[in-house]
Formats: sequence, structure tokens, C-alpha cells
Amino acid sequence: MGESLFGKPRSAVEAALRGRELVACPLCRRPPRPFAVDFQGFRLARCTGCGLEFQSPRPAFDDLAAAVYGSAYHPEAHEAVDPFRRRHYLRQLAGLRRHLPAGRRTLLDVGCGAGAFLRLAGRCGWHVDGTDIRLTDAARRTGARLWQGQLPQIAFDGVRFDGVRFNHVLEHTPDPLAELRRARELVGAGGVLLVGVPNLAGLSLRLKSWQSRCRLKRQRWKHYGALHHLWFFTPATLARIVAAAGFDVARSETPVLERPGRPAWVGALLRRPLEAARAGGIVDLYARAP
Ligand SMILES: [Zn+2]
Repeated sequence: MGESLFGKPRSAVEAALRGRELVACPLCRRPPRPFAVDFQGFRLARCTGCGLEFQSPRPAFDDLAAAVYGSAYHPEAHEAVDPFRRRHYLRQLAGLRRHLPAGRRTLLDVGCGAGAFLRLAGRCGWHVDGTDIRLTDAARRTGARLWQGQLPQIAFDGVRFDGVRFNHVLEHTPDPLAELRRARELVGAGGVLLVGVPNLAGLSLRLKSWQSRCRLKRQRWKHYGALHHLWFFTPATLARIVAAAGFDVARSETPVLERPGRPAWVGALLRRPLEAARAGGIVDLYARAP
């Protein structure tokens, strides 16, 4: 299954991913209410108890992983950090440092991809190991300790970390509560968790949802990224699932990042009002293990 399914029509997706399975809300344990079907036929649903949005019914995860997370998913070009990602990663490292006692500098980067964060954090004095559902040669070249697989299934043989980072990873996993509970086991008391996800309550995604509801978009609900995203978080729903896994939420922010191709003054103008309204494009949440 070499060819990417991204952007392909519904018929191609349904031919490649045949089975569908129902998903219950991991917090409320109840079936969600469907509210939309995207342009590729993926079904979007919302928990009537807590408001968490996710795909249900969805393709079996193993089929999805085989179809999506192939060698093309992390191109070699991702090995290098562009200046925009570099600034974001440095901001995340500063956030992690703020929530950790001095001298505690071991991290696990879940879903380490091409290893850009492993490399940058290593240069900043952190000791970072990584996992990924499919390890890349680029990550191997960092020399970090790496484990392949889904976090809840990896045997760490007693290895523990001061911090665990999920950066644009949690929304791809079959069971985010199981991932976070495993992260809680891997950090001792006083350890820290960083979760970065797209912000479903951000201005940009809300605008696109409105356009999709009003049928103003040709590829409706494309902004959910439902081929590889199984869960769609807001600051509130993310905080709830992190707390359910046994963490105390310390800080959650919705940074407006500088982007290639957008004049710097646009970002500067939007930053304050969007961050104050918690409507920036992503959520970065820091939590401590009690
Ligand atoms: Zn729920």
C-alpha cells in the first residue's frame, strides 16, 4: 500500500480501508453522536457527555497504520528543523524546564518522527529518547535510545523519564487515555507531561468548520485531518483527559506560531487577542505528575 491516501476521493479510501469499528468516549464510556462525514467518508462524532470529538465508526487502527504511516510519512527533509519549528521547540523546552526541578533533564519524545526534536533538545543539554510506531533512519542517526511501537505496548524494562512529550501525536493514537496513563507510569512523582495538539477551538479551525457546515468548502471537513487524526481536542477536552490519566494540569496555552509565507506583522497583530481567547491554532498543555 505504497500510495498515499491523503486527498484521495472517498471511493479510493473505502477500497483501501474496508472495516469500520465503533468507538466509545474514553472518559464517559458512551457512544458518541455523529455530526458530519468528511469528504473522504470519515465519520466525525461528539460525546454528548463531555464534548470530546473523535472518529466513530473508524477504520481498524492496524489497517490505518499500515496505509498511512509508511516510509513517505516522515520525509528526510523533516530531519532538519526550520526556523519556525525551532522557535516553537525552544519554547516547549523552556516550558518543560519551568515545570521540572533543576537538574532533571531526561525526556521521552513519543512519536519522534524524523528526530528533529531529539536533535535540538540534545544540543540544549537534555537527554532525550524516543518512540515511534515506525522508526525512521533519520531518528536512528541521532544516536538516541529508541523504541518502536505504540507507547502502551512498549516494554521499557524499568527505564523512567523526568518528562514525556507528545507533540502532534496523541490525536493519531487509537486510545489517548491509555497513552497518557502509560506516560504517567513512565514519569515519577514531580515528572512533567507536554501534549501539543491542533486546537479544534482555534479561530482557523472554527472558521473552516463553519464553512463546512454551510457547504462552502469543496472538500468538507478536510481541516479535521481525519485520515490520520482520530481525536480532535480543544483546550477543555484535552485538559479533562490529561487529568483522567492522573496528571495535574499546570498550564495550557494556544500559541500563535510564526508561519512560513505569513508576514510577521500578521502574527504579531493576531497573537495577543487569539492567545487571550484561547483561539490560537494549537494547544500546548503542561501537566505535572503528583
Ligand atoms: Zn465523553
